[in-house]
Amino acid sequence: MKRITITSLLASFALFLGACGNDASKQNAAPPPSDDGVRTIAITANDSMQFSVTSIEAAPGEEIRIQLSNIGRMPKQSMAHNWVLLQPMDNAAINAFGMKASSHAPEYIPAGASEVIAHTKMLGAGESDTLTFKAPSAPGPYPFICSFPGHYAIMKGTLTVK
Ligand code: ZN
Repeated sequence: MKRITITSLLASFALFLGACGNDASKQNAAPPPSDDGVRTIAITANDSMQFSVTSIEAAPGEEIRIQLSNIGRMPKQSMAHNWVLLQPMDNAAINAFGMKASSHAPEYIPAGASEVIAHTKMLGAGESDTLTFKAPSAPGPYPFICSFPGHYAIMKGTLTVK
């Protein structure tokens, strides 16, 4: 009886070590910091529908890089994230865009949407994407969201150009 318990414990420990190893290798696989002088903003998104960064400031026309990583574990069909920068709009307009986007699987970006300034790919667990773009030249608050169905109500932030 005691031997079984110890064996189970060892097995659990091995699984635990394996899980840690996977996490470490994922982090090691992240792209190296760029040396081209472009300011890079690393953002994570998780299974709780949270962006690690919800407020970004940029100078008009500044070139910036968004490095988005989905650090969740849930299957992509039920939990995926992107980062979509929108034209200045109020919450009602953000919700309207989110509703429209939700019928455009799998990227959930309506083709040719005039509201979209820039966006990353839709990312499943463990995936990441890098987006380099120029901040708008007009000062003001630009909302960003995740356009996966239902996420736009929670997963959002503001890029402020000033
Ligand atoms: Zn999301």
